[in-house]
Amino acid sequence: MIDNMKKILEKIKEYDKIIIFRHYRPDGDAIGSTKGLAQIIKNTYPSKRVYLQNNDFSDYLAFLGKEDEPLTDEEYSDALGIAIDTATLDRLSNQKFTLCKERIKIDHHIPVESYADYEWVEEHRSSSCEMIAAFYDVFKNELVMTPTAAYYIYTGMVTDSGRFRFREVSGETLRLAGLLLDQKFDTETLYANLYLREFDSFKFESHVHKKMKISENGVASVYVTRAMQEQFQLSNEQASSSVSFMDSIKGSLIWLAFIDNDDGSIRVRLRSRFVTINDLAKKYGGGGHACAAGATVHSRKEMNALIKEADALLKEYKENNEGWL
Ligand code: AMP
Repeated sequence: MIDNMKKILEKIKEYDKIIIFRHYRPDGDAIGSTKGLAQIIKNTYPSKRVYLQNNDFSDYLAFLGKEDEPLTDEEYSDALGIAIDTATLDRLSNQKFTLCKERIKIDHHIPVESYADYEWVEEHRSSSCEMIAAFYDVFKNELVMTPTAAYYIYTGMVTDSGRFRFREVSGETLRLAGLLLDQKFDTETLYANLYLREFDSFKFESHVHKKMKISENGVASVYVTRAMQEQFQLSNEQASSSVSFMDSIKGSLIWLAFIDNDDGSIRVRLRSRFVTINDLAKKYGGGGHACAAGATVHSRKEMNALIKEADALLKEYKENNEGWL
């Protein structure tokens, strides 16, 4: 992997203009890794022009600050494009990535598709931010870290690892997190921004708890219909957060949230512990990680079919494995 890192640093040095991209519906890892890398490059090479060019944002991450104003199409043609945290080209928030002169992909998702000239993908990493921290660590004699850059990168490490709980978290994850914490930024405010919730969100959570169902073998699921979204005046983001309300049920190793999209399709958020669910997500036009994946269905019938398949998967897992909870 060191060769990939060297190549990326070489390319960063070569270009005066660098444009950084991420996936749509960004999470803490997408925002943290892109803003963090942009900061490192700006700190290290003040004369380079570095831009974050994306077309959508997430309200709950607004505390991390804005991105850059749109560039003209011509501006892309002599730039190095770096896409982070995005497995496939179509998931990029801004498709103008393809206009860049040369392109780099840095990602920790299962590699479904190759879409850049240089790719550094490590799917065992707990986050893309962990990869950016590792990149800094390898070249720390050359690169400049600041508390602001560390704060962005640490944010994504915390959010994508479920506060350092998920199975991808390794000794290196924590050593790299430690390296960032050495920069001394305000973690109390960071956690307050990430985890405090509006009063109404607790009302929605209790509604989800009332409505959720559990299948014979323990798949928990909830359908956040358009009507429910209107009743609680939920944004798509808030509706989507429902998946986390089901993450601590004993014996329910798979949990699913179905959320009505505006276009009539239904977004599926799949989560699990112990059991791998991304193959199931792939069958329904999605993908993701072993224990956190996404997909799309188009009817209640398809929704029920997915739940049934998840139930069969869980049945098989429980019959053939011990020690799960
Ligand atoms: P989400 O439930 O949307 O947070 O997705 C969980 C994980 O699965 C994230 O890492 C996403 O990048 C990935 N994912 C979600 N939807 C898709 C999709 N349609 N195709 C591929 N990966 C996806």
